Amino acid sequence: MTEPTLPVRPELAGLEPYGAPQLDVPVLLNVNENPYPPSSTVVDDVAEAVRRAAGGLNRYPDRDFPALRADLADYLTRESGVPVEAAQVWAANGSNEVMLHLLQAFGGPGRTALSFAPTYSMYPEYARDTSTRWVVGRRAEDFTLDVEQAVAAVAEHRPSVVLLASPNNPTGTALDLPTVRALLDAARQVPGGCVVVVDEAYGEFRRAGVPSALELLADHPHLAVSRTMSKAFGLAGARLGYLAAAPALVDALRVVRLPYHLSAVTQAVARAALAHADELMAQVGALRAERDRTVEWLRSRGLRVAETDANFVLFGTFADRHAVWQGLLDRGVLIRETGPDGWLRVSIGTPAEMAAFQDALEEVAL
Ligand SMILES: *Cc1c(COP(=O)(O)O)cnc(C)c1O
Repeated sequence: MTEPTLPVRPELAGLEPYGAPQLDVPVLLNVNENPYPPSSTVVDDVAEAVRRAAGGLNRYPDRDFPALRADLADYLTRESGVPVEAAQVWAANGSNEVMLHLLQAFGGPGRTALSFAPTYSMYPEYARDTSTRWVVGRRAEDFTLDVEQAVAAVAEHRPSVVLLASPNNPTGTALDLPTVRALLDAARQVPGGCVVVVDEAYGEFRRAGVPSALELLADHPHLAVSRTMSKAFGLAGARLGYLAAAPALVDALRVVRLPYHLSAVTQAVARAALAHADELMAQVGALRAERDRTVEWLRSRGLRVAETDANFVLFGTFADRHAVWQGLLDRGVLIRETGPDGWLRVSIGTPAEMAAFQDALEEVAL
């Protein structure tokens, strides 16, 4: 008998699953999590909400989760000052799944998704998994977007989806609204249409005066702004991402989602946590301040540091960045080996964790 061959799609052959190493070390600064766990009040309310949901688990959850969408709309309205309604909100198991829905609905064979590198390393995977052609332009030396070049790339490649992370991962760079507006205008000219996705996973960490692309929603039915509860909310383990867009765009996503993709437990956890949004976000100010201190400290040591509006800092450059990463790990501090050659990324932790990071970096590289 011959061994049967697994008919793995050729573009997946030999690939490893995506993901940063999950190592058990004292100081975890590698995946941009919020270092502050939920308070006992939040834990109690979440547990009670799950208890209530558990009593109905013989039934499928609400497929369209109107109550959660209304809560998310209220939260976005309060956070950004832009009125958002439930019909403009979509959610899934992490914004990663939201993005996949976007590519399933608007990408596909014969179509193109465009982004600008260096950027989030999952974007090409959504394109690959939906058989969407993947094209990347370059960011400028300081990781901002050159508007003229970016607009020209849209005109040249005629993508059906443009993916823009703002603040960008792994660089921390936020986009200004004129840049997003220029890309939205360019997208309007693409024959067959083009959706512009602004991924604001780190939106809540932006510095004062830095706008959210939510401000452009009213005039742009081909804009989607995605957010997540994984970062500022400190709920990475709950898996809840969402977006705001015109109701017609949301309706297109409802076609491709799996039935009952958001479990009753997930919906209950998210709603219980959203009722405590202010408390969960209370640490955001502290994390921003810690980020700005980290930037100053790294610069005071003569290192290059990218401007950042996120809860992480890209710094460098090192002739052998892997050795620096390993040296920190040997001292119990896990950061991320990512970004352009020579750069490293550190997530912002508690003051004690950042002190451990600084001590370790002094020993290893300074
Ligand atoms: C962390 C991150 C996300 C969020 O992913 P979730 O699936 O919501 O946990 C989205 N986009 C970027 C750029 C990120 O870095």
